[in-house]
Amino acid sequence: MIVVMKKGATAAQIAHVVERVEELGLRAHVIEGTERTVVAAIGEMRDQYRHSLESGPGVAEVVPILAPYKVASIEVKPERTVVHVGPFSAGNCYLGVIAGPCAVESEEQTVATARAVKAAGATALRGGAFKPRTSPYSFQGLKEQGLKILAIARAETGLPIVTEVLCAADVPLVARYADILQIGARNMQNYRLLEEAGASGKPVLLKRGMCATIEEWLLAAEYILNTGNQNVLLCERGIRTFETHVRFTLPLATVPYLHEKTHLPVVVDPSHGTGHTSLVPRMAAAAVAAGADGLMLEVHPNPEKAQSDGYQSLDFAQFQQTMALCRNVAEAVGKHMA
Ligand code: PEP
Ligand code: MN
Repeated sequence: MIVVMKKGATAAQIAHVVERVEELGLRAHVIEGTERTVVAAIGEMRDQYRHSLESGPGVAEVVPILAPYKVASIEVKPERTVVHVGPFSAGNCYLGVIAGPCAVESEEQTVATARAVKAAGATALRGGAFKPRTSPYSFQGLKEQGLKILAIARAETGLPIVTEVLCAADVPLVARYADILQIGARNMQNYRLLEEAGASGKPVLLKRGMCATIEEWLLAAEYILNTGNQNVLLCERGIRTFETHVRFTLPLATVPYLHEKTHLPVVVDPSHGTGHTSLVPRMAAAAVAAGADGLMLEVHPNPEKAQSDGYQSLDFAQFQQTMALCRNVAEAVGKHMA
């Protein structure tokens, strides 16, 4: 249920509603809008709760939240969430660009990439230190050494770091270095990990599971939001279909659809979403045209020599061209790219 406060409701009236919601055994989320404040009451609702809350001082009305996800729903918060981390902003009119190698391989490779992507207009650096590889015999990442290299790249360029955390136990370690925690497609429904990542207080980029419906994905986001962490970015990275000409199928209707259902910013990853370098620039531009609030792009100094995902990575020149193309489209759709 959403308890909609009257315009000009006082802080004491809002605090009273929060107290009442909690007394009923529900969780209260206060969302302050520009027009009025709402208190989302999350949990199992009974009919009599509604009447009880409705008679509180300063309450305008109590309405049910129809969507199965609650805090993520646009019904609860009609204003768009903007995630800001240093030079990176995503949401509403802001388009954030996260670029960097699939995996951190060396200081030289990571710092060179950070410098190049920054010069071309990226506002955050990505790089996996812990890699979720299909085969246990593939490169697993440099782990803490990789996190240290990312911190060096951040110190050199000022770009915030986006890096993946693979399990709940690793959250404290990864959160010590990362500015944004990435939860990968293979972990989208790892609920303990979602809760730990949320509780770290760091913004979380939640990739769509390759076989997950949008509803399952939003319910996963709800686990993070329920820790009180509002800084969640949804990342469409493609889904499994019968198609074989691409690594994954990238459904771009996800972007406008999510904008109808949730206030959370939507990032698109055309690198994993296509699996082919040659398809990335146009699909990045198409994502911007669809209204994406962010892009995640794999960039490597020498994709041919990459330890992972070289076949879908852009080199520096290709990244620069992609940024130029996306900037034109961003301007046409009213998005601000740094
Ligand atoms: C990645 O970003 O390198 C990655 C492993 O992505 P995903 O979880 O989408 O496969
Ligand atoms: Mn990758």
